[in-house]
Amino acid sequence: MDKKIINGLVAEYENGTFKAVQKDLYVIDGKLSFSGDDSEYEVIDAKDRLIMPGLINMHTHAYMTLFRNYADDVSFDEWLFKRIMPVEDVIEREDAYWTNLLGMIEMIESGTTCFSDMHMFEGQSCKAAKEAGVRAYIGRGLVGDDIGGDGAGRIGEALRERAEYECDTIKFVLSPHAIYSCSEHFYSQVAELAKKEGLLIQTHLSESVFEVESCYEKNGISPVELLDRAGFLENAVLAHCVQVSDKDIDLIRRRNATVVTNPASNAKLGNGIAPIKAMREKGVNLCIGTDGCSSNNTLNMFREMSLLSLMHKGVERDCTFLSANEVLTMATVNAAKALRMEGKLGIIAEGACADLIFLDLNAASLFPNNDVITALCYSANGSEVASVMVNGKMLMKDKELLTIDRERVYSEVRRIAKKYL
Ligand SMILES: [Zn+2]
Repeated sequence: MDKKIINGLVAEYENGTFKAVQKDLYVIDGKLSFSGDDSEYEVIDAKDRLIMPGLINMHTHAYMTLFRNYADDVSFDEWLFKRIMPVEDVIEREDAYWTNLLGMIEMIESGTTCFSDMHMFEGQSCKAAKEAGVRAYIGRGLVGDDIGGDGAGRIGEALRERAEYECDTIKFVLSPHAIYSCSEHFYSQVAELAKKEGLLIQTHLSESVFEVESCYEKNGISPVELLDRAGFLENAVLAHCVQVSDKDIDLIRRRNATVVTNPASNAKLGNGIAPIKAMREKGVNLCIGTDGCSSNNTLNMFREMSLLSLMHKGVERDCTFLSANEVLTMATVNAAKALRMEGKLGIIAEGACADLIFLDLNAASLFPNNDVITALCYSANGSEVASVMVNGKMLMKDKELLTIDRERVYSEVRRIAKKYL
């Protein structure tokens, strides 16, 4: 049934600014409207709630909840090659379904309604996202030298699963892993295929000094230049971009690519802090991601927004840099732009997707509501999220999860952790 949401304070976005306005909302066929008719509506009373667009986590690996706090405070090599990858090599398909669902519980509870994922068992991610009701852009993690080799199997599988799972809320993305696991030729082939199939593309790029130095040694150019030469940069979604030069940033802007910054992951793995100021000045579309739970170690976008703003204010010694409004824009409006959903996602507007989160304005961390917009960046920690709606459907109501059986997921993940870790 269509819904009428009354008595709520709504975080509207107008002329580049979020502001809180008291108004009623209608949800008709999963889309938002500011006016209704004589039809019968299910009424949702949002008294003492701030309603805002759900947050969009633009880079994660949801299934990696399995690895939460499994390999902390060790070297990058130890972390990736000795601890994570050996388990990834043997993990069974079905198990990834349960660890994905755990990720979705965490996302829903902390106000994320849409995420962009990269994973090898994308069918399991789709299945979990569909059941949970979360909006997802699922990327098949790809590695290889040639699409005709190992890639063919993986890409073929991805395209078959696309036909099976793609729907209103689940979209497919092609995701070559990184320049050290995919050849330049491979990137070219994937870019061509994506164009042909009308698919989004994403990859990890310029994450560490090691990656950039090895690329110069091997190719004489930077990772960003390499992907441009491969024809992959145009409209691509690029995770990390920590170690990029001014020349790289110009290229990223020229090709209309999006950068997803992952401040917690980059700091935790000792990879550095992305040059957000330079990217912002050059007009790059900037979004936020948490990365996976093994390098963050949470999928909480409220924490990520706060960390991003505070970290860069400190680095730039400028307390006006990366305002709460700008960070919120990155986590909503800019993400929608990267997903080619501008005006339809990440915003409360006539005809936009009804992906909303309802925060409890009586939570001690938000009280006394002096500025409910800046509070979202500097005070909220995600625990204030009381209810969550995606595509007009309630996924959590007054803290009660409606689509996922938490006890079952915990018991399965406990079993799986015992098996591998
Ligand atoms: Zn990643």
